[in-house]
Amino acid sequence: MPVFEPGWVWLVGAGPGDPALLTLLALHALRSADVVVYDALVDSRILALAAPAASRVFAGKRGGKPSPTQRDISRRLVELARGGSRVLRLKGGDPLLFGRGVEEALALVEAGVPFRLVPGISAGLGGLAHAGIPLTHRDTNSAVTFVTGHVAGGDAPDHLNWPAIAQASPVIVVYMPLKHIGRIVNNLIAGGRPAHESAAFVSKAATPEQCVTETTLERAPDVARTVVPPAIFVVGEVVRLRDGLDWLGALDGRQLNADPLGTRRRNDAG
Ligand code: SAH
Repeated sequence: MPVFEPGWVWLVGAGPGDPALLTLLALHALRSADVVVYDALVDSRILALAAPAASRVFAGKRGGKPSPTQRDISRRLVELARGGSRVLRLKGGDPLLFGRGVEEALALVEAGVPFRLVPGISAGLGGLAHAGIPLTHRDTNSAVTFVTGHVAGGDAPDHLNWPAIAQASPVIVVYMPLKHIGRIVNNLIAGGRPAHESAAFVSKAATPEQCVTETTLERAPDVARTVVPPAIFVVGEVVRLRDGLDWLGALDGRQLNADPLGTRRRNDAG
């Protein structure tokens, strides 16, 4: 393992939840860090893996209070590193996907603080795998699009070319979907997606409270009212593959279907 040198910041992905989905490098960083600066999405079981003497600094929203600004967080990272600490900046999923990790890394560059980027399993990959939903299957799609459900400041991502996404991407994975789910669904249907297309929410993926809600595109805004954040929204035929791939459900006795799309049956008949 590379040595975590004093005065460095490691920007590390914590994966979607389950500590078992940390990378070995993330675990090594947790055990070596003097300070862990973490976000709300980081699971407490993961923080518990930090060295007992490490200080833990929360950098997310708490109890309705405004979250520290990005500039505050970046400044804090710089100060801690300049003070000679090994600073672990721990972010949910992958640190560079929809998580402001890039801004923080660039602030370190500006301040001349050395850093390392440690990828993590993103919720839209590992979280869906935990739910038994694949991102691709050659019978359904060979392209996937990752979209954020709100942009800086919280607005709906209306600037996206929704008709192009609707038409070109058979599978669409939406991060932070809940706030603007009505707009997102309308945009996709207006862009040509069938209203009855399969969709699902995966809430608290890869945690003991994981909850998967299968639905259709048109019903998603209603269903969303009962979905607990954080959640991923996925649209596409891959959701139907869950009938075959719900490995967690199988542990509870669910009977899995080896031909969830019905393609084998069709091929046999033809
Ligand atoms: N960098 C993170 C994403 C940060 S944006 C990553 O790569 O996963 C925050 C969004 O990520 C949440 O609103 C939610 O859509 C998603 N998310 C993160 N952890 C999740 C989890 N355990 N279950 C479901 N969604 C999750």
